Amino acid sequence: MQGGLPRYSAWAVVRNALTGGRGWRPVWREPAPRPAYDVVIVGGGGHGLATAWYLAKNHGVTNVAVLERGYLGGGNVGRNTTIVRANYLLKGNGEFYSHSLKLWEGLERELNYNVMMSQRGVLNLAHSDGQMDAHARRGNAMRMQGDDAELLDREAVRAGWPFLNFEDARFPIHGGLLQRRAGTARHDAVAWGYARAADARGVDLIQECAVTGFRVEGGRVLGVETAKGFIGARKVGIAVAGRTSRVAAMAGLRLPIESHVLQAYVTEGLKPVLPGVVTFGMGHFYISQSDKGGLVFGGDLDFYNSYAARGNLPGVEQVMEAAMALMPMIGRARVLRSWGGIMDMTMDGSPIIDRTPVEGLYLNGGWCYGGFKATPASGSCFAHLIATGERHPAAARLGLERFATGRVLDEEGTGAQPNLH
Ligand SMILES: Cc1cc2nc3c(=O)[nH]c(=O)nc-3n(C[C@H](O)[C@H](O)[C@H](O)COP(=O)(O)OP(=O)(O)OC[C@H]3O[C@@H](n4cnc5c(N)ncnc54)[C@H](O)[C@@H]3O)c2cc1C
Repeated sequence: MQGGLPRYSAWAVVRNALTGGRGWRPVWREPAPRPAYDVVIVGGGGHGLATAWYLAKNHGVTNVAVLERGYLGGGNVGRNTTIVRANYLLKGNGEFYSHSLKLWEGLERELNYNVMMSQRGVLNLAHSDGQMDAHARRGNAMRMQGDDAELLDREAVRAGWPFLNFEDARFPIHGGLLQRRAGTARHDAVAWGYARAADARGVDLIQECAVTGFRVEGGRVLGVETAKGFIGARKVGIAVAGRTSRVAAMAGLRLPIESHVLQAYVTEGLKPVLPGVVTFGMGHFYISQSDKGGLVFGGDLDFYNSYAARGNLPGVEQVMEAAMALMPMIGRARVLRSWGGIMDMTMDGSPIIDRTPVEGLYLNGGWCYGGFKATPASGSCFAHLIATGERHPAAARLGLERFATGRVLDEEGTGAQPNLH
């Protein structure tokens, strides 16, 4: 048993198959909100739910509510292309994503939930000698951080990924940087796994409960106004991804964040053609094959600000062009679905886990393209900050002050332009 929940196991599946499934129970409760909590988390996506779990597990803080305006996992955590990796160059991001990948590796056992974590590898292609040099540099940084990285030459890439274009490509493949421990996970199962585990420790998960304001007195947060009335809280954490700037504005905060739409696509199921995740080096394009056989891929943002969770045709064209340049056989596959999600893009493309000027109000946001892979580390570092008041060592450089001091974490090197990161 896990806090009153039956443990999932092969034996439980067999027993329930033989008894008409009567042993299964709802995996979380539907509680009415209490008048007040020690901690209220705004946003029931991956990061909010993970924060609730680590508050309970690592810090024994269980008088916690997660307030979600829609349904749990209906945001970006259920819309992304599921890529998990720890291959960042800069100090600050390096140790944070390294911490995250280590947590991913033990997550299913920790949650007793199959999140389908699959370490099938992430290969970043290089299409010039200069890009090979840059990959070598980043691979060295990854190894210095304690993570794995291998530089592959063209023939090694061809041996493992024969369906890429090696014949008449506009951008010939020179080699690539491979992280074997990276891969994919089933995105919405991550939300469900954290939700189930947090609920079992007594966390109240309250759906259809939009936060509409903050009650602040004397510079200190006292609670939140919601669709279900006022809920008091000693501490409040914001984890609302694409809506970060709007929600923070309710507390009078103006953040270095813009919201943009990002689209993703999936084809019909095909026989295995891609062993892992591949990223194109001559454009922003990433692709993997799901366990059902669909090719799952995406590219750049749509480049304009939006709160609409759907994209436009120029974004589609750019992604399809990159797909055809890298892997012409994809032109024979039919795209089944495309969808969009709202990304909270910071000025330097890196996240924020920090206090705010309002006492008791904490901020987790700015996840840009990297928020799914960050989920475990984000939850554990945000819980640490909320519970102890101190930054977790892995998130020590993810503070708001970097936008004032100029010590930004600009992995892309594109400057203070959120849509280009
Ligand atoms: C198409 C696409 C592909 C992506 N691919 C990847 C990838 O391959 N790898 C990767 O690492 N990252 C990827 N990302 C980014 C990643 O999905 C996000 O950064 C991450 O999911 C954001 O954190 P979250 O899970 O907490 O967000 P969400 O799931 O969006 O959670 C935020 C929640 O807050 C709720 N909320 C908002 N306002 C309020 C309010 N006022 N009151 C209460 N609740 C509120 C929302 O309803 C939502 O459920 C991708 C994103 C998109 C859109």
